[in-house]
Amino acid sequence: MAIRTPDQYRESLRDGRSVYMFGEKIEDVTTHPILKIGTETAAGDFILPESKDPAIRDLFVAPHPETGEPISRYFTTPKTPQDIDMRMQMIQQSIRLTGGLPFGKDIGTDCLNAIMATAEQMGKLEYKERARAYLEHLRANDLMLCGAVTDVKGDRSKVPAAQVHPDYYVHVVDENKDGIIVKGAKIHITGAPAANELLVVPTRQMRENEADYAVSFAIPVATKGVHLICRPGRGERSPAEFPSNRPNRGLVEAMIVFDNVLVPWDRVFLCREWQYSMLLAYTFATYHRFTAVSYKIPLVEIMAGIALAVAEVNGLEKVGHIRGKLSEVVAYVETLKALGTAAIKSPVYYGEICVPSPLITNMAKLHFAKNYHEIMKTIQDIAGGIITTMPTYLDWQNPDIHDYLEHYLGASPKYTTEERMRILQMTHNMVASADSAHMEVTTVHAEGSMEAQRMMILIESPLKQYRDLALMASGVQPKD
Ligand SMILES: Cc1cc2nc3c(=O)[nH]c(=O)nc-3n(C[C@H](O)[C@H](O)[C@H](O)COP(=O)(O)OP(=O)(O)OC[C@H]3O[C@@H](n4cnc5c(N)ncnc54)[C@H](O)[C@@H]3O)c2cc1C
Repeated sequence: MAIRTPDQYRESLRDGRSVYMFGEKIEDVTTHPILKIGTETAAGDFILPESKDPAIRDLFVAPHPETGEPISRYFTTPKTPQDIDMRMQMIQQSIRLTGGLPFGKDIGTDCLNAIMATAEQMGKLEYKERARAYLEHLRANDLMLCGAVTDVKGDRSKVPAAQVHPDYYVHVVDENKDGIIVKGAKIHITGAPAANELLVVPTRQMRENEADYAVSFAIPVATKGVHLICRPGRGERSPAEFPSNRPNRGLVEAMIVFDNVLVPWDRVFLCREWQYSMLLAYTFATYHRFTAVSYKIPLVEIMAGIALAVAEVNGLEKVGHIRGKLSEVVAYVETLKALGTAAIKSPVYYGEICVPSPLITNMAKLHFAKNYHEIMKTIQDIAGGIITTMPTYLDWQNPDIHDYLEHYLGASPKYTTEERMRILQMTHNMVASADSAHMEVTTVHAEGSMEAQRMMILIESPLKQYRDLALMASGVQPKD
């Protein structure tokens, strides 16, 4: 079963997992009206490998490196820049082909790749073998996984050991011959209710007195003591929206409580080696920010497209100041793409594992996050206030008033009034809706806050070298 069918995937989620939303326990995440949007989005990862188009199938399915058996490409460990490039293309195509976000295996394998790179650096054979065996388990069962990294964190000004109680960060509370017992809570975990497995990684560097917090492991979502508390994502489309060809997609985030959960030893990848928590968190962040850049490119391409489309339906595409604004939108998108390509071309290696350039990856993510709201503002400006005040599709369909709308809401003769309304609806969805506000926050915080990127840029940059050049030019000896 190296590649599962969408139905096998859906069936695997009916496993007695503990999931809550709107104050209720959810019996079946595949049929619940909101959660099923997430599981159907995730099911895309099992639909695309079934494609009859060999170009699509070969992107999502790769040969097992030893047996040649078909496996999900997510379960190939990147060894070369080409591997990273293929992964980027796969993530981008998953969005272009299904209209959804990437599905979850991306974040989970960002964790797993970081675990493997860290095990390589530690030189601890036991962890390398466990990570490798876990990878084989994922390959053989084609499991959907999510990455549980962000802890609830409590008082942000205090480190884990200084908090008022010990449980603001996931930590080891006990161990026995079968495994370790963990307690704590992770939050904002994308796609958790649609995943088979949770992969846990520390969110930050831990110090010697915080060794219990230096823990990484994998467990099935349906493990005793694991509870998912979900915030609803996008619901069913409203009949008031003008229809679109885009399928209704979205993933649901969850807070995950670990209530004294037993993790078997063979699924433990870091246990109290606090010295390696930084490397693990840092390497995860690089992989994950690169994944972010990958999935954001197709999202902003379509945003740039809507900027031009809405200018056209309003008859404004040739106006000077609108063209200036369109040039800013397109430069934003193309800069992101160029940085993504540059990150692939300057990788770093841990043993034979290839990681995209940490410096350029963080620059790309910061570029995306820092300028996103400006681009939203530019599109709102080009589109006009109608993206918040337009009559609904229900009014459009009412014969008493339809003709008024048809008559008065036309603009450029290149488009019918209904075409204009559909483009305005899409613009509304992208820059003036509850979903677009969610995306603005996602842009700022998901994959780490902008300060985290600034910190990594400074660590990775040749700034000191540049200072020395300036000192030498000033006739001053460089200092350490
Ligand atoms: C939609 C979405 C999806 C996500 N998906 C996932 C996922 O799948 N898996 C996962 O593990 N995480 C996920 N995240 C979490 C994401 O990585 C975090 O939101 C991010 O790291 C910021 O953490 P926080 O939200 O706790 O904010 P906070 O840490 O509370 O940060 C708020 C602000 O305070 C600043 N700050 C925080 N601590 C300090 C300090 N000690 N000193 C100075 N300044 C500080 C930050 O820089 C920021 O400006 C997701 C987040 C979102 C919004």
